[in-house]
This record gives sequence, structure tokens and C-alpha cells, in this order.
Amino acid sequence: MLENEKYIGLHTNRGTTYDNIFPAIVSKEVFDTVQKRILANKYGKHVPDVDYLLKGRAFCGYCGKPLHSATGTSSNGTIWRYYKCHSIKRDTGCQNRSIKKDALENAIIDVLTQAITSKKNFPLLMDGIINIHKRKIANDTEVRILEKELQKNN
Ligand SMILES: [Zn+2]
Repeated sequence: MLENEKYIGLHTNRGTTYDNIFPAIVSKEVFDTVQKRILANKYGKHVPDVDYLLKGRAFCGYCGKPLHSATGTSSNGTIWRYYKCHSIKRDTGCQNRSIKKDALENAIIDVLTQAITSKKNFPLLMDGIINIHKRKIANDTEVRILEKELQKNN
């Protein structure tokens, strides 16, 4: 319902979009705001003040679906944060259990830190940094040339 363009008065048939068949009952502005919100929440609910580092980047090892953020509160009020397979909610039979947020994120950070700081990967890291720097310099030069042309034209 939130993504149906008919609410803003649009009807698409065979690749052609019509805006004069029925009136809009939701403004385009509200519709666009909702679309942005849906896109932002694509990989799990927005949790204010909590960064899920692997949001949109971690996938279930059993079924391949994205892992979403999840929260649980224990009887003493402690809030536990997890990554949870999206399939569990839809009862598709995935065997994956929730994974504690900190445990998964720390494991990934450890692996990445080891990979980045290993002697074997050092040349790759340096090449990557040098290439980024070269691209930046090339873009800067291009911008300067275009700015000079703009000045001339003005
Ligand atoms: Zn799964």
C-alpha cells in the first residue's frame, strides 16, 4: 500500500504512466518521503542512537537472506541487540538463530583488522590508497580545467 503509485494518482499500463485517470489522495511530497523512509529501513528497523555496522552487509549462512537488527529486553530491563535472519519472521524454516550484535561485529572487525594489517596484504592496501589518491588528483585537475573554461565563457 505504501509503495502503490495509484495513491498519488498515477496508473501505469504496459509501460505508459497516466496521471489523468483518477485523482491523487496522497500528495507526491508525502509519498516521496515515505519511499525514502522505506529505502532507509530496507535492511532492518531504524534504531536511534545505535549503529548496526553490518546492516545491509551481513547475510544468513543458512538461507542467504539479509540479517536484520533485532532487540530483546531481559526481565531485569537489560536491552540485548542482535542480528537476526529475515526468514525467521516469515517462518520459512531457516535454522539460523539470532547472533549477538557485539559478538558478530567484533568478530568481523577482528578479521578485517588482521587482513588489513597482514604483511601479505600490505602491497594491496598501498596500491588501493595510491589509486584513490591518483583518482582524486585527476578529478581535481579536471575540475580546475572546467573552472577555467567557465571563467573564460563568463
Ligand atoms: Zn536464514
